[in-house]
Amino acid sequence: MRIASIEVLPIELPLEVPFVISYATYDTMPSVIVKLTTDTGHVGYGEGVADEHVTGESLQTVCAVIEETLAPRLIGMHPNQMERIHEVMNRAILDNPTAKAAIDIACYDVTARAYGVPVYDLLGGRYHEEFPVTHVLSIGEPKDLAQEARRKVEEGYTSFKMKVGYDVADDLKRIQMVRRAVGPHIAIRIDANQGWQTSAGSMQTIHALEPVELDWIEQPIRARDISGMRALKEKTRTPLMIDEGICHADDLRHIIEKDACDKINIKLMKCGGIFPAMKLIHMAEMAGLDCQIGSMVESSIGSAAGLHVGFASKQVTSVELTGPLKFTEDVGDLADAYNLPMVRLPETPGLGCTIDEAKIDELLIDRVLV
Ligand SMILES: [Mg+2]
Repeated sequence: MRIASIEVLPIELPLEVPFVISYATYDTMPSVIVKLTTDTGHVGYGEGVADEHVTGESLQTVCAVIEETLAPRLIGMHPNQMERIHEVMNRAILDNPTAKAAIDIACYDVTARAYGVPVYDLLGGRYHEEFPVTHVLSIGEPKDLAQEARRKVEEGYTSFKMKVGYDVADDLKRIQMVRRAVGPHIAIRIDANQGWQTSAGSMQTIHALEPVELDWIEQPIRARDISGMRALKEKTRTPLMIDEGICHADDLRHIIEKDACDKINIKLMKCGGIFPAMKLIHMAEMAGLDCQIGSMVESSIGSAAGLHVGFASKQVTSVELTGPLKFTEDVGDLADAYNLPMVRLPETPGLGCTIDEAKIDELLIDRVLV
């Protein structure tokens, strides 16, 4: 079985509710779907959702890097040669992890479909039976968020993630109101997406938040300030997670050397796909760091890939892969795997979701106009 063709299909996924984080607002999510066909007629799908604030890539660069740089070098290779495929990609171009992830995911999907097994069976088999789905509260009015949180607890949710980082006083008010609304036994995690900038800027907020008993605080300060994370970790009892600050293995080595956090948020789009994600998880296990699998808000394809990594790995203790629940239209049917507030992976071959090719055609965009 050899890779015969790699097709690049840029699409725009309509979001149910605009997604607001500290540095941007999104109404639709641009995404690059990769369709990989083998000489045996097997087809696999991958996806790359670029976040220029995190990896420096855009929809256009992902398309161009795959078409011009990566795909031509991979034609003729076996899609199961993951170590070699990544070596070829890494020698061809530095970084560009989202473009590489789209290829990597398509290779796993097509290989697993050809072998007739779910992707997690290529990763050591299933470890977790299910994961709780964390409800994400976007940045909004404190009383609205508190109401939303109370409603979700009634629906059975046991954990919340709050996006913060606009204004420290506002952040505090929102988090305290949500805690009061849901009581002491519900997990609350907060993600500042670098919004508190420096360790000096976030120290008092983190101390003020200690009575709220957060599960963890994610990326309070600038991504590259690993020493600042270390300084914060020494001064608080609230666990700290690094997200934007960890893309690839070199980042994680640096984090481990500095003992800079308690948890890391691994995203396939930041590290280059399933294969490098598994390597990060092994490094984290050696260092005693908990892992979460997150996403850039991806369709069924990218979200399924993240779930397969999570379901195969003991070191992964939480997942944040709710893309399929956020779109009004999707290219696959992974939403069926969510039996809220839990998510369970199907056992069907490949990524485990059926791809709607007509929907991909319908959502196709002209990349030049984006
Ligand atoms: Mg984050």
